[in-house]
Amino acid sequence: MSNVDDHPEELVCTAGGEGEVLTGHRVALGGPRAMMNVNRVLPNRGRRMIGAWCFLDSYGPEVSTMRVPPHPHTGLQTVTWLVEGDVLHQDSVGSVQRVRPGQLNLMTAGRGISHSEESPRTLLHGVQLWVALPGSDRHVAPHFEHHAGLPEEGGVRVVMGSLGGLSSPATAYTPLVCAEIAVDGEREVPLDPAFEHGVLWLTGPMDSLRYLAPGRTSLSLSGRGRVLLIGGEPFAEQLVMWWNFVGRTHEEIAAYRKEWAEGGEFGAVDGFDGARLPAPALPNARLKARGRLG
Ligand code: MN
Repeated sequence: MSNVDDHPEELVCTAGGEGEVLTGHRVALGGPRAMMNVNRVLPNRGRRMIGAWCFLDSYGPEVSTMRVPPHPHTGLQTVTWLVEGDVLHQDSVGSVQRVRPGQLNLMTAGRGISHSEESPRTLLHGVQLWVALPGSDRHVAPHFEHHAGLPEEGGVRVVMGSLGGLSSPATAYTPLVCAEIAVDGEREVPLDPAFEHGVLWLTGPMDSLRYLAPGRTSLSLSGRGRVLLIGGEPFAEQLVMWWNFVGRTHEEIAAYRKEWAEGGEFGAVDGFDGARLPAPALPNARLKARGRLG
């Protein structure tokens, strides 16, 4: 293991108030024999979503190997964003795409897709996020986008949505934002007051996120490093999230699981050398739809 953070100075984020700190928890990616641990910040107890952002894992910086065999998704988009490293994405609609720092891999699962993610043993540092699709678009045809030339100005790179006059070309289905912001000293970032936001430092410990409620027009950052800003209009629909599926009812999730177990509907990742991930057993209790606060 190798930690490259050589400047653990204090980093501060204020926005006209303290905000609420969401602390993540360690999860072994891909099960107990996994080769890497991630820090799961969303969903969090009492605050399951920020806008349509319903899942946030951060990992590294550490020398590690990522190998996530083919697995299915529904009703969401996956966002892969790296600070360090090199991850190969392959999926069931034929995409084969390496992603590097500063580039976006965006997979829209819609009604169903399967994919794998792998890296050689290397320095890995990044985040994986999921965006819940609204009811009107959650059954769209699955598709994949790679964006290597995201708009950037003055140390702000807009990954999704718009910020400070820059707009990302990435497809979004609800009003939201995702941006990487370089901080060297103090800076102000404009916020959309209709959005709730989350701020995660990508430099130093990535174990907690600061939540900011709607109504703020700016964010003050001070320190040295980079932050990830996510936000969006509070998501009104209730979701059932289980394993890699986002749906609306227990029956729907059970049907997705059955389809995956029986080898249907989600296609195949032809380029992956190895077996796909088996679905875990459904819990005995019925899965419940939950709102953004749990
Ligand atoms: Mn996945």
